[in-house]
Amino acid sequence: MRKPQTKQCAECTFTKPLTHFYGDKTQKDGKMRRCKECQRNYDAQRAGTLRRKARLATKDANRNHEGTLSFYDVIWTLAETECMYCGEEVEEAKRTLEHVTPGNDFGSIGMCCTSCNSRKHNTPFIVFAVRHLTDYQTVRIVDRLALRRAQSFEETFNELYDDMKRYFTEKHERALEEARQAEKAGGDDA
Ligand SMILES: [Zn+2]
Ligand SMILES: [Zn+2]
Repeated sequence: MRKPQTKQCAECTFTKPLTHFYGDKTQKDGKMRRCKECQRNYDAQRAGTLRRKARLATKDANRNHEGTLSFYDVIWTLAETECMYCGEEVEEAKRTLEHVTPGNDFGSIGMCCTSCNSRKHNTPFIVFAVRHLTDYQTVRIVDRLALRRAQSFEETFNELYDDMKRYFTEKHERALEEARQAEKAGGDDA
């Protein structure tokens, strides 16, 4: 039996010759679901969304942190498909730029879903990992960060540990300062 030489495009619904479809090994008939024309439009649209998001995220990040985060660092990060924390596949609209550590460079950011992002907020990574991640997830994330930073696992882990120490030291100092202020205010009243 001869193989059918035409196919219906899932987008525009026109039936077109097979040569009007790009190859896709994951499909049964070896061709993409959309015709070439529709596929190109679809890809351009997705790239546009990604670029817009990357531009916003770069602007936002540079306002709030010291560092050297480039537009391409962001676009590369937002092109990842799995949330770095929960591991779920994240649709493009729900991908957010996550600052794993307070720095603002390629080695301190990652992509996570909106719900993981709001759950982590500014919790130091190690604290978040102890509360919400399995050992396997934690090791995988540290490994990936190490790769981005061109460091060893130990170096990256030590830096994450220092971030946690810094966070709690600052918190402690703030609390002490508040206590001093309160005491001073109380003393003035007397
Ligand atoms: Zn089409
Ligand atoms: Zn997530």
